[in-house]
Amino acid sequence: MGSYSKSFLRAAAITFSLMPLGLTGCKASGHDSPNASQPPFMSTASSAPSQLAEEAPPPEKTGGFDGKRAFAHVGKQVSLGPRPSGSRALTQLQDYLQSELKSYGCNVDTDAFTADTPVGRLPMKNILVKIPGEKPGVILLGTHYDTLLKENFVGADDGGSSTAVMLELARLLCPQHGKYSVWVAFFDGEEAMKSWSDTDSRYGSRQMAARLSTSGDIKKIRAFLLADIVGGRKALFHRESSSTSALVDLVWSTAAKLGYAAIFLNDMTSAEDDHDSFLKRGVPSADVIGDFTNNGYWHTPQDSLDKISPRTLAIVGHTFLESLYQLQSK
Ligand SMILES: [Zn+2]
Repeated sequence: MGSYSKSFLRAAAITFSLMPLGLTGCKASGHDSPNASQPPFMSTASSAPSQLAEEAPPPEKTGGFDGKRAFAHVGKQVSLGPRPSGSRALTQLQDYLQSELKSYGCNVDTDAFTADTPVGRLPMKNILVKIPGEKPGVILLGTHYDTLLKENFVGADDGGSSTAVMLELARLLCPQHGKYSVWVAFFDGEEAMKSWSDTDSRYGSRQMAARLSTSGDIKKIRAFLLADIVGGRKALFHRESSSTSALVDLVWSTAAKLGYAAIFLNDMTSAEDDHDSFLKRGVPSADVIGDFTNNGYWHTPQDSLDKISPRTLAIVGHTFLESLYQLQSK
């Protein structure tokens, strides 16, 4: 029943100033308004829009980010079955992540640790990609890759989607180097084992933030952009209220410039998530989290591959990539 406690606590914290019921996904805006801010791929959506809405745009329209590849990474994760912390399936995913990242030429650090949880001591592992930059300073991107401890829960969107986006971003970013270093974090243990609380949740991000504080490296982090639940066919994103507002502004204005204002909405939400572990230690952080309370499948066995849109993954990936380039230019 842990998931219900988390559901209740998180849902209780959620407030929407406006529910944009007319804007379920961006397919409608793509062809209703021949607006200069729409990216070119949307202007081709004049026939069969419902089908096109789920297809990924060609990578050259989304900064090189390949929505089909990202979707395949979600499929791979789901094929492993439920992936709670400490499970064999999660070990298999760790191996997959590390071998993919190495095949992209990424430098990969791992931190294996044990966490005391309400269901016992569990082995956990954080995975951190480090891409060097020219100047001191780090821009951190991140996701959790574990799934909720619940029978038949495969976490296509919650765990799978953002992990897939970060893998595809790492493929693009590892061969590049910019002004600042870029780190891509894959956190274990975001989900509560029994009931969401400050001590039962976010094990991996708390571990990483604590270690980086001890080493002093946390002071180098200029910004942290977190993704969670970012692959839904009808995903909508609201500004998360505990996030650093300047960073939220940067991401949302980037999304609007790219033509994604129909899914990056300006009303507010509130969510507890892995960004908290870094906010508490003074790192400017923003959580880009899909509207999970209204998606109809959050923390249920219905969070399955059929809920995921390659196109949404591409939009989020493109927005993260361009937001990163904005941060690199500061
Ligand atoms: Zn979750």
